Amino acid sequence: MLQQLRYLVELQVLEDKKNQLIRGYNDTPKRITEIEQEYARFEQALLTRRAEGDHARKMHRALEQSIADLENRIGRSKIRMNEVKTNKEYQAILREIDDFKTEIRRREDEALEVMEQVENITRELKTLEREFEVHKARLEADKKILEEESDRLKERLGQLDAVAAEIRVKIDPALLKRCDSLLERQSGVAVAPVDAGTCRICHLNIPPQKFIELQRDETIMQCPHCHRFLFWAGNEAYQVMDEDLGLSA
Ligand SMILES: [Zn+2]
Repeated sequence: MLQQLRYLVELQVLEDKKNQLIRGYNDTPKRITEIEQEYARFEQALLTRRAEGDHARKMHRALEQSIADLENRIGRSKIRMNEVKTNKEYQAILREIDDFKTEIRRREDEALEVMEQVENITRELKTLEREFEVHKARLEADKKILEEESDRLKERLGQLDAVAAEIRVKIDPALLKRCDSLLERQSGVAVAPVDAGTCRICHLNIPPQKFIELQRDETIMQCPHCHRFLFWAGNEAYQVMDEDLGLSA
């Protein structure tokens, strides 16, 4: 077994694990934001309805006040009746009182409608508030699960990085430099297994003579097509298990 190649294979295994984790992790912040947005939308709907309720109550109070004012004016008109001298004046005050009464009835009808609105909104708000509480609890629980998940992933990534760092110091610097540049340019895959004469990553055949050389396991070789480092899949020395890397399941 070529020890340096074995290190490269191990590094690749760690890289694959990391990429897999990162793909899952990238979604988490987005999902947390979505939960927060849903929460904000629900809260906004509740606040809007509450403001509508407050407005209707204010309108109702204003109508009641204006009715009381009109009743006061009727009272004052009745006092003036005792002081009038002519029938004409008397009739004028009666008409005035009638007008006030008509206006009071109109405003009372309006106040009744507004009161109905207030009652509807109050009922609706009770339901909305109950739903909001249920929703809030559920969203917070979801968010907590996602945050815990994200913490676990970060911890696992840290663990993988630590193991990778230990391996990296053991690799010849020139080889490591080539490996890093391949990782960067070849979508995170710098090491490829060869099976039945075919590079399993780029799926192209390597010349038979090269394949025999690879099986002899004497020098570190690169794929003539994708330039990734190669190892023969049939060589058990390059099978990397989690335990080999000191990783728990
Ligand atoms: Zn290849």
